[in-house]
Parts: sequence; C-alpha cells; structure tokens
Amino acid sequence: MNRGTFDILRCPYCGWRLDLVTSSYHQTNGDDVHHGILGCQCCVFPVVDGIPVMHLQPAAVAAREWIEKGQPDRARRAMFGLEDEGEARQFETLEDSDAATYRSFVEALGEHLEGGYFLYRFADPTYIVGHAVVRAVAGTVLGSGGRALDICGGSGHLTRALMDLSSPPPVLADLYFAKIWLARRFTAPGCEAVCCDGNSPMPFARGAFRFAMCSDAFMYIWTKRQFVLDMLRVIDDSRIGTDDTRAGAALISHTHNQCTWSPSHGQPLTPDGYRQLFETLEPRLFGETGLFADVVRGGPLDLARRDDERTLEADPSLTMIASRHPGVFVRHPLEPPPARARGEFRINPLYVEAAPGASEGGEDEHVRFRLRFPSDDYEQEYGACRQYLPEDVAITRRALRAVAEGRVPDELADLARRRVIVDLPRRYY
Ligand SMILES: [Zn+2]
Repeated sequence: MNRGTFDILRCPYCGWRLDLVTSSYHQTNGDDVHHGILGCQCCVFPVVDGIPVMHLQPAAVAAREWIEKGQPDRARRAMFGLEDEGEARQFETLEDSDAATYRSFVEALGEHLEGGYFLYRFADPTYIVGHAVVRAVAGTVLGSGGRALDICGGSGHLTRALMDLSSPPPVLADLYFAKIWLARRFTAPGCEAVCCDGNSPMPFARGAFRFAMCSDAFMYIWTKRQFVLDMLRVIDDSRIGTDDTRAGAALISHTHNQCTWSPSHGQPLTPDGYRQLFETLEPRLFGETGLFADVVRGGPLDLARRDDERTLEADPSLTMIASRHPGVFVRHPLEPPPARARGEFRINPLYVEAAPGASEGGEDEHVRFRLRFPSDDYEQEYGACRQYLPEDVAITRRALRAVAEGRVPDELADLARRRVIVDLPRRYY
C-alpha cells in the first residue's frame, strides 16, 4: 500500500487515522508499505503483501500475530486460508513463477473462489451492463478529477474499468483477501486494495472519494442501511458548496429484487425498500433489462429514463444511482471497443474452434468458431448473452494474427463490439 492511502484510511470502529507502528516488524520500500502493523486508538491491523486488513475475523488476527513475529509468509498463508503444508508450498511455487496465470492461482486456491465462471466474466450480460454504467457514471463525475472506490469488488473485474478514470488510482475493497490480491497482480494492477467487511462501517474518511460503487454484491450485505449511508459518507461533497458539476455519485448495480426470483438470490429488498435506504440523496432506480437492451443495441445508455414501479418490480435485477451531478441522468453514448488492447485481445473463451486442426490454409482462409456454454447452469443464468454473441463466427487467419498482435482490424470491429473478441488482463488464462 502507498503511504498516501493513510490520508483516506480510517479505523472502521473508532474512526481514527491509521499509522504504521514503526516499533513493530515492518517492510517498506520508499512510500510502499509491504508488511507491517497499523494502529489507531482502539486496535491494531496487519498489512500483508501491501494490503491493509481492516477487520478482526480470526484469519486477520492470526495474520497480525505472524506479522508481529516477523513472519509475513505465515501471515499470507493465514489470509489465504492455506492450512495444508503441501497446498501452501504449491501456492508459493506458483507465486515465484512468472508464467503463473490468474487461472492457475484460482485453481490452486479452489475454483469456488470465482464461482467457476471467471473465464467468461468479461463478456457476461451482468458484466457488460455494469461496465457500461460504470464507464458512463464514473466517467462523468470523475471528469474533473477524484478517486473511485469499488466496494465488494471481488477480483477487481470492474475496478479495471476505473483505472484510467480515477486519480489517484481506485481503491478496491473486499472481504476476500485472495480476490483482491489477485486483482492487484492480474486484473487491476496499480489499484490500491483494502481488505474489509461490508457488514462493518467502511474504513475510509468522509469525502475520500468522488465515486463509490458496489456491483453484484449488495443483496448479500446484511447491514444494508449502514452500507448505503456509509457509501454516501465516503463520497460526501458538502465541501464543494453549490457547484453540482463537482458532485460525486454512488452506484449500486446488479442487486436482486425481492419481487422476483433469481439464481443466487441473497437477501434482496423491494425497489421501494432500496430507495428508502438513501436518506439524504434520493437515488434513481433502473431495471437492468432496459439497460441491457440499450447496451445490446449499441447505445446510447439511457440514464434519463424513468422506469415506473411496475417495470422495476418485474425486473430480477436493479441498478441504483444517487448523484446531484447534472451530467449523470442523461443519454450516454457507448464507448467503442478499444482499438489497442489494455491487456491482450482474445477470442471469447465461450467459443471453440469448429474444426480444430484443419489443414493450414492461406491468410484469407476462414477459421470457424462455435458458441459453447460450459454448463447448463451457465446457460440458464447467462444465456441472455445470445443476444449479442452469434452462434457461429468465421474469422480469417490474417485477422486472427492481428488480434494476437494486440490489434482489432476493421473487419472485426463488429465482433469486438459484440464481445466475440475480448480485451482480457495479461496472463488471465
Ligand atoms: Zn480503532
């Protein structure tokens, strides 16, 4: 963690500023704190592999004791839950390897870590709606500067969409240490990561951010009222007076709806129940079906729409946005897919070559790919991707080579827009 993060980090319990306890074991490099102990007025918290652990669950307490003993490797094992010596050694070998991928770590830590579907995450329907909304809202409120917070952000798939918008770099917060550790290494390198419990007060100062978001997680938070009021606290913009063009935004996307059933349901509220959580800044609610249709159509993303109660009650998932910024609730054009890869362009892993090993033809020969779902469960939950992913595609060898070199040639622009070609983090799988 960067020492600059001390300016925004606060104890979740006493609210006091945190500082490195220099009399305890620590490893620093310039402004970076790699391992150490942070103290406030009430507690001490460990920093493990550059990640402050701001809660008091048993793994965090064990990790803090290992750091105090000067054994950061043991602290890391505690945070990863690697109790078996063989598994721990296997993990540590992987860690020292430059060839290790996101996938190899997920497999070493147990597939449950990412629900098994992480390979397809960057093109699934939930993600593409979340991504479009994040780019539109964060892009608007961070246009004149400011920092973003992705809370319950898991492995940072959407944090990655904030990297070029947030200054200083975005903060990714999640209870699962392994996920935010993976985000720092693969998905969103350069973000700051904070391990904290979404059911406790957020460990950040009032007004530390201009944009705060929570995607695909809010229905699993029990203390929803505290969570929302805390979100509004960390983006508090009362200092700016009446200049609404400098106002921030809070975004909760993909939260389930008590009025309908959905897979992995959680403990959702009704649309009105959600609305009432925001006591000081009235949110606008959107049914995600409408936003999804906007994205599939190629835009614009219509945040000027006002979904009526019937539409909201019928939609299995909802997006909520609270902001005073005049540029938020308008029609936002969708950004074109990047011409150059941020990570590396790949054919969407939902596609398999239709006739693998067919004889090598010329540059103009087409290679055929077919859409194939990894399981019936996946198809049931994410089958809406058929609305933008064609059943069959044919791509010339010349175009495939360009993709491998990190370019999308003109002939593939539409397939990139439809997520047949995806921009994945380097060494993702
Ligand atoms: Zn404290």
